[in-house]
Amino acid sequence: MLNFDVLFAHPTSIQIALYGCLISLLWLVECLRLPQSLGTKWRHTSLNSLFILSALPIQLMMMVPCLYLARWTAEHNFGLIYLLPDPERPLFKFALMFVVLDLLDYVYHRTAHRVPLMWRFHSLHHTDLAVDVTTTVREHPGETLVRNCFLIGYVLLCGASIEVLILRQTAQTVANLTSHTALRLPDGAARKVAWLFITPNLHHAHHHFMLPTTNRNFGDVLSIWDRLFGTLVHRNREDTVFGLNGRMDGALDARLRAKAAQIWNALLRRPGVAAAKAA
Ligand SMILES: [Zn+2]
Repeated sequence: MLNFDVLFAHPTSIQIALYGCLISLLWLVECLRLPQSLGTKWRHTSLNSLFILSALPIQLMMMVPCLYLARWTAEHNFGLIYLLPDPERPLFKFALMFVVLDLLDYVYHRTAHRVPLMWRFHSLHHTDLAVDVTTTVREHPGETLVRNCFLIGYVLLCGASIEVLILRQTAQTVANLTSHTALRLPDGAARKVAWLFITPNLHHAHHHFMLPTTNRNFGDVLSIWDRLFGTLVHRNREDTVFGLNGRMDGALDARLRAKAAQIWNALLRRPGVAAAKAA
């Protein structure tokens, strides 16, 4: 029988460890299985990895009020789940809540494509011209902040408990990393899995540069919302071009690389470092 005690006792450390292990594993398999030079892969990885520097502190900072509010809702029986008879039943507390939170994440993603300020943040994620597992961390700091504010709103609205949040976050980590990987499922298997879950094949279509395909396959873990609301599309890899219309020249990445190099060089030119190098 599965024992989730360790998961619940150290939620943040376990989540970071899981994220780190899975992204590293998928990255290695991508290197081994896909025809791409290690230099190109490393160049792409190094740029996307920079976004961890802004995302991680914001994510960790926002976890604190989120976990506090999740505990508060449970202590005060606050949220829609407490309108149900026997809200502690696992069917309601875990299964129903997981599905509802997944629906709210679908709504969030659709909203991020429609509201101009949110799209300004989210569009950065779509400017990657070579989607792979590292694209998962390519997120504007503004989006990390807004996304977590929405999450806090869900917790208060639904009355999600800490246990549900942790299990959902674990499923999201696996789903988000696997859906961005450049490793695709064979078409037949992908179509079967896609009846319930978002696959890399489905999410690659979401990263196609042209509308209306960019506005399809918004699902986070489950694909049922795209199917239900008519936003599901299947697309072959050969017909998919990653990026965003009007921003396909790689100028943004060039600017980001130049800025990172500028900061790095400035750090290396610090008097202490220069003296140490001279010695
Ligand atoms: Zn999107």
